[in-house]
Amino acid sequence: MVDNHGRNINYLRISITDRCNLRCRYCMPYTGVEKLEHFSILNLEEIARLVRIAAQAGIRKVRLTGGEHLVRKNVAQLIRYIRDIEEIDDISLTTNGTLFGSMAEELKDAGLDRINFSLDSMVADKFQYITRVGRLDTVMSAIDKALRLELHPVKINTVLIRGFNDDEILDFAAMAYERPLHVRFIEFMPIGDLQFWDRGNIISSQETKDIISGRYRLLDAKKIKGSGPARYFNLEGGQGSIGFISPMSNHFCSACNRIRMTAEGKLRGCLYDKREVDLKQAMENGASDEQLRQMFLETISSKPDKHHMNNGWGADNRRKMYQIGG
Ligand code: SAM
Ligand code: SF4
Repeated sequence: MVDNHGRNINYLRISITDRCNLRCRYCMPYTGVEKLEHFSILNLEEIARLVRIAAQAGIRKVRLTGGEHLVRKNVAQLIRYIRDIEEIDDISLTTNGTLFGSMAEELKDAGLDRINFSLDSMVADKFQYITRVGRLDTVMSAIDKALRLELHPVKINTVLIRGFNDDEILDFAAMAYERPLHVRFIEFMPIGDLQFWDRGNIISSQETKDIISGRYRLLDAKKIKGSGPARYFNLEGGQGSIGFISPMSNHFCSACNRIRMTAEGKLRGCLYDKREVDLKQAMENGASDEQLRQMFLETISSKPDKHHMNNGWGADNRRKMYQIGG
């Protein structure tokens, strides 16, 4: 399905919970998080029904996210439901990696194709500082497991924050050089717990690329499965790649191929657009598959041409990333 700006929208990101077992400083406050009640979120069968309908509206790729989706029970069952939808050819997860290690085989057997890990530091103390409660070694062994199970391409998402992890840029690049991992550097966005966000802490993709170019020769990479708006480069002689996700500087919205659904069944055309369509309410009112399909098509066609994060700097930040699904 092509939207009003000529983009082929074939990717649905689904948040299946707003809950999380970590408390990353830029994402969630440590205490006082208002959680959604169980009855207000979609059950697995409702999610599966909506994915089937989304597939009829042109969706081919699905990513499960959150919050941390692996804290929700029966994620493997949900993957099985989605695997049974013929049109869906790619199922992936974005995870903090804390629970994946013990669930990896089950998720792969259920039909998981690939996985992205969020990892903002490879120094144990810094990792614990940014996540408040996480352990680096657990995540590193989960990444090893994903590689062993060949859930390729295995991607690492690193949000760069000046003064926190800019000194690790070359270490992350080295990881992509030495291992078949695809490290994506994400510009820090004014969304989430804004107490931690500051405009001065954004490190642009260009700055990051210049630092890495001082050590490695960067070669344009072939398109990597699920690359979306990221731009990828191989490091000459290396095994993996690096990528840049640049929502704050450029090269992003014109290549955007996604829509998002929250755990309560709200459909959004853009992470930063306030407009939402209430699919759960529509289902409770007895909407037919065709009516729901029309709701998907309307959201796709009215997807905004670009986000407006650069205007107002966080003023529109009514929902947090863990509530929308990062
Ligand atoms: N809990 C899972 C995880 O951490 O991978 C999935 C949800 S999390 C909200 C998804 C992604 O959003 C993570 O990679 C996280 O680093 C990113 N994220 C959250 N807040 C962000 C911000 N203000 N700027 C850039 N990325 C952000
Ligand atoms: Fe949880 Fe992911 Fe947010 Fe960290 S970034 S608090 S792991 S939802």
